[in-house]
Amino acid sequence: MADYIYTMEIRLTPDQLKGVGLVQDVARAAGLNLYLTGGAIRDIISGFTIRDLDFTVQGNPLKLQKELEKAGAKITAVEEDMRTIFISLPGNARAEISMARTERFEKTGKPPLVTPATIHEDLRRRDFTINAMALSLNEGSRGLLLDPFNGVADLETKVIRILHNYSFLEDPSRLIRATRFAARFHWPLEERTQARYDSAKEGKYIDHILRSSIGHEIAALAHEDDPLHVVKMLEKEGWLEVLHDHWTLAKVDTNGITQLMKTRQQMVDMGYSPDAGPAVMYFLTSHFSEKDISDIQKSIPRKDLVEAWRDIEDHAKELAKRLMGKEAATPSRTWQLLSSARAEMVLFLAVTAKQQAVEQKIKNYLTKWRQVQQKIPLPEMTELLITPQLPEYPKIANDVFMLLLDGKLRSRTETLKFLKPFAPPPPPPPPAPRRGRAAKAAAEAAPVAVPAKPGPKAGKKGKAAAAAVPAPSSAPPPPKAAKVAEKSKPAKPEAKSAKPAAKPAKKAAAKAAAKHAPAEKKKR
Ligand code: ATP
Ligand code: MG
Repeated sequence: MADYIYTMEIRLTPDQLKGVGLVQDVARAAGLNLYLTGGAIRDIISGFTIRDLDFTVQGNPLKLQKELEKAGAKITAVEEDMRTIFISLPGNARAEISMARTERFEKTGKPPLVTPATIHEDLRRRDFTINAMALSLNEGSRGLLLDPFNGVADLETKVIRILHNYSFLEDPSRLIRATRFAARFHWPLEERTQARYDSAKEGKYIDHILRSSIGHEIAALAHEDDPLHVVKMLEKEGWLEVLHDHWTLAKVDTNGITQLMKTRQQMVDMGYSPDAGPAVMYFLTSHFSEKDISDIQKSIPRKDLVEAWRDIEDHAKELAKRLMGKEAATPSRTWQLLSSARAEMVLFLAVTAKQQAVEQKIKNYLTKWRQVQQKIPLPEMTELLITPQLPEYPKIANDVFMLLLDGKLRSRTETLKFLKPFAPPPPPPPPAPRRGRAAKAAAEAAPVAVPAKPGPKAGKKGKAAAAAVPAPSSAPPPPKAAKVAEKSKPAKPEAKSAKPAAKPAKKAAAKAAAKHAPAEKKKR
């Protein structure tokens, strides 16, 4: 049997995994049964990007709000009628927690009658088989996959299949969802589903779509990996104008969005996780009137998305202004400014900056300056015993990086000269073992020892050294274990002679920096 918990653990990002733990603890403490459901399970099993975590509880999730907030989650929206809360977990991971429910559609175009239910009943009200699975996160059954419609088989066949013949009639927003998933995954609709889809389209079921569903579908567009492709498919099927009657591809800044998604991927590869949603919305509606934009914003339930979208231009302008000012006069200061800015703002400004200087600075930040990290002499630092075990290590590593960025350390020799004063005193040599006459004789008779392979400790040291260097996403690889092990021997004369080692590191840092600065000035 597949181990879905293991699959979940290796597929979620560290922040998402921590988020699952957080929600699990809160639900458990409240005595509510919790399941990971919907798209999260689909994407975990099939290997797609997991964009948000969909949880379902048997009971009312609204009563978890306080405890979730205490645990570090932010409540970003609440839908009282469906008893669903939208949350942002530490590290920007998005999630929603819904109540397990049944939905009875009594009148076309009217919201369904909602009643609390078990998870098994809840799975029956879902849209497609691949979205109708639940993974138990409860003691006793943790890891059990509930898959009443054989969604796993449809994931393997790569088809989108509705659960029953009335699916599109009950909720016409599923027509838009079907197109969106078909476009995202490049999968076809299963044959009968396609037939139902065609007749629903012909019968204009879409006219009965609920306004709340429109808002959900618009928000979902913001988080697509390839929103342009999805929008094109929606337009082709006639659904884009359902989302807003003036919406066509002509309203979209296609160049802007292409550039945005490219830069986003670049940033993701570097280890950032910018939420591109607000910027995607900005470009998807670039040529809309203010009134139309405001209408669209009103229909979106996730107010955090709307707020971020509304503020995006102003915030970007602010950041651009700071990048043009004294605060970003040198590469190191620019680096500090951009590192402390939100990744989504850096992303948006990278694509929209009007000033060439701003554009260049962001470009340097994302590419050229990262390579400067390779110049941090990690093996030599380990040799000097400047390792993450030192409390002042982060500051020293950061100072070296900043000086390298500003071109104030121009060679390895200069860098080492800067570093040496920070080397701590070597540990005292171990006391010589007292040997008896017999032991001495045995030692003399023994063959010459082959140098032992460096132990795991040395390797760890090197790795840790690399990890603590600023901007870990592109930190240089750790020095080879053997080299580190050999070089970090305390008896090495060079390490021994590190003179000001006994001084408190802060003082040493200040002194070394001060010593360095005037020399630089003179040179200029
Ligand atoms: P995404 O990757 O875009 O988040 P998703 O399938 O998770 O895709 P959500 O909008 O997050 O979509 O919804 C979570 C789950 O709720 C879905 O997987 C599906 O089971 C259920 N769901 C959402 N909308 C509908 C709907 N209109 N009808 C039936 N079930 C729905
Ligand atoms: Mg989802």
